[in-house]
Amino acid sequence: MSENTENVRCLIIGSGPAGYTSAIYAARADLKPVVYQGMQPGGQLTITTEVDNFPGYPEGVEGPKLMEDLQKQAERFGTDIRFGVVTSVDLSNRPFKVVADDGKTLYAETLVIATGASAKWLGLESEKKFMGSGVSGCATCDGFFYRKQDVAIVGGGDTAAEEATYLAKLCNKVYMIHRRDELRASKAMQHKVLNTPNIEMLWDSVPEEVLGDMSGVNGLRVRNVKTGESRDLAVTGFFVAIGHKPNTELFVGQLELDEMSYIKTKPGTTQTSVEGVLLPAMYRITITGRPSPLPERVAWRPLKQNGSWAPEQMIGQRTFNLKIC
Ligand SMILES: Cc1cc2nc3c(=O)[nH]c(=O)nc-3n(C[C@H](O)[C@H](O)[C@H](O)COP(=O)(O)OP(=O)(O)OC[C@H]3O[C@@H](n4cnc5c(N)ncnc54)[C@H](O)[C@@H]3O)c2cc1C
Repeated sequence: MSENTENVRCLIIGSGPAGYTSAIYAARADLKPVVYQGMQPGGQLTITTEVDNFPGYPEGVEGPKLMEDLQKQAERFGTDIRFGVVTSVDLSNRPFKVVADDGKTLYAETLVIATGASAKWLGLESEKKFMGSGVSGCATCDGFFYRKQDVAIVGGGDTAAEEATYLAKLCNKVYMIHRRDELRASKAMQHKVLNTPNIEMLWDSVPEEVLGDMSGVNGLRVRNVKTGESRDLAVTGFFVAIGHKPNTELFVGQLELDEMSYIKTKPGTTQTSVEGVLLPAMYRITITGRPSPLPERVAWRPLKQNGSWAPEQMIGQRTFNLKIC
């Protein structure tokens, strides 16, 4: 075997909360996991300031600090963490062949995919400028900071509708901006939004510019696509809820994906369509029968020595917005 070829028992692609959590369990099961961090070491939480909903941090924690702690915890049990991007996988035979941009070809007995999902953004310059200081991609994460204030949200699907009603409970007023004259959300969610008194719908409208200064967002310019007229909303928060895109391009044609390109799992398991290829140890389950997706239950599935998952261990309910691919 050449020095650029390696056999590993458990290879984890991705270094967000899901990747490091998997690594902690795999390392403790003595599976000697190797983590490839990808282009965003620490994942999406490294671009946020305050994380208030992670258990164990009573005063909240900065995203980069949280991810540094998770990395250290994974390393403490012997995880081999590497800076590099996985560029191709071949899942047709086990061990699985994985090629990374550090020149390594790895043969993995078990593969855990923790490549996350990327929030879609509008692409406005001002949106980028005020990211984290008034612009957010997650109402359930950041809504708390805008209690009793006026905010705006853009989007028209179920997530946007859920987030708008969530914000309406915390905020004084919520402007919901949608480019069409009807929401895409389910009828039940539409009904909820349209019957919430402090949500004002701005139909046929698109955000044009996020307004603000050194202290953050203080307004949003919105254009009506039918009349061409613009108006400025006096808001301190702007939430973008136009969807997520799972980072699953690597697995197209190799794993079963659903119509939204999320990886399919066997019901009640983290097992994908290929045995030995798993989704992360921590995942989100929406409790059925609840009108909103919160709270979510978080389950931990320790990885056993043989690379299969032990039965789920529920650790309670909390509002953690971890989305896995
Ligand atoms: C600005 C912002 C603020 C947020 N605030 C909160 C909050 O306060 N509370 C909360 O609960 N949630 C919050 N979220 C959501 C939270 O960040 C995500 O739900 C969470 O990070 C998802 O974790 P993950 O491990 O599944 O994926 P991610 O964090 O997206 O990590 C994916 C990882 O995969 C790696 N990767 C992808 N492709 C490859 C490849 N080919 N090779 C190797 N590695 C690869 C990436 O480099 C990255 O490390 C926030 C999100 C954003 C963007």
